[in-house]
Amino acid sequence: MNATHDLVSGNLSVISEQQIATSVVPINNIVEWLLQDTGTIFSFNVFELAEATSNRPLSVLGFYMLKGSGLVSQLALNEERLARLLMKIEAGYLDNPYHSCIHAAGVLQSTHLLAQNAICHDYAHPGVTNDFLIKSKHQLATVYNDTSPVENMHVSSMFRVLYGKENLHFAEHLNVDSRNLLRASSIDLILGTDMKKHFSMLSRFQTQGRGRLVDLPGDAKLLVAQMALKVADIAHLSAPTQVHKRWTAQLTEEFFQQGDRERALNMSILMDRSNSAGMVKSQLGFLEIVALPMVREYVNLIPSAQPILDGILINYDYWHSLHSTELEAYAEPA
Ligand SMILES: [Zn+2]
Repeated sequence: MNATHDLVSGNLSVISEQQIATSVVPINNIVEWLLQDTGTIFSFNVFELAEATSNRPLSVLGFYMLKGSGLVSQLALNEERLARLLMKIEAGYLDNPYHSCIHAAGVLQSTHLLAQNAICHDYAHPGVTNDFLIKSKHQLATVYNDTSPVENMHVSSMFRVLYGKENLHFAEHLNVDSRNLLRASSIDLILGTDMKKHFSMLSRFQTQGRGRLVDLPGDAKLLVAQMALKVADIAHLSAPTQVHKRWTAQLTEEFFQQGDRERALNMSILMDRSNSAGMVKSQLGFLEIVALPMVREYVNLIPSAQPILDGILINYDYWHSLHSTELEAYAEPA
């Protein structure tokens, strides 16, 4: 850590909620420092941001990006409500190994345009899969009739926070059409992150997402936005290998914790911590079957996303080289 870092993180550690709502200077400092350090928004280490902000990476980055995008001033959004909302959403993330506020900040980092939905896309994630919720007859599966229970819960709780008693609706003053659009697109975007819909969405994208982005009809533009959030959701696959390994270890741990609960409930086990054979192979499979085809298609339409594809290919080579000594891959990152 150098002096700048100490100064900046020192600033942040003493920020009160009042200050974060009214002053953006420290937020700019830290994020700019991190961005300068690594060059591009695709490659800064979100774990470092979490550390430097006393585990508030999501509200700090969210506020910085929404302000930086010009959206706050263009729409005259209520900054104080926005800041309080961001901190409320961040506080609603559980301390899961993977689906935490740091993951949401990482997804946000990978997408500028979709900021609000990136911020909320895993809100209050229970740290288990839809399948688990459905098979264990969890209350969320009952409430949402076994249909994307986790994703439905993210959107629904986001709007409950927004409409709640705490006056957090930062865009209340917009006209009814804009507010309806904000709501409808939030629902479509976040529900679109359910992996169950992945292959059908990808094949629709392959036929509808052709040509120039500006020429596409409205529903195809929505599909592009859904894909952008999906690409961002897996963008840790393109992070520098050390960071990507850490995310993989966190996700593996989250699956293991689910496996522990499945064992206790006598259910079939998704991933068993006592038998980790074949995990490098399944990592390679995920990259080959899910991640790479989607990101290649996305880059066809949006060439500026090429760095994401390049990063995934580097990590793909890493996993490939580990194929024979697979347990090493899951050792604690340096
Ligand atoms: Zn996510």
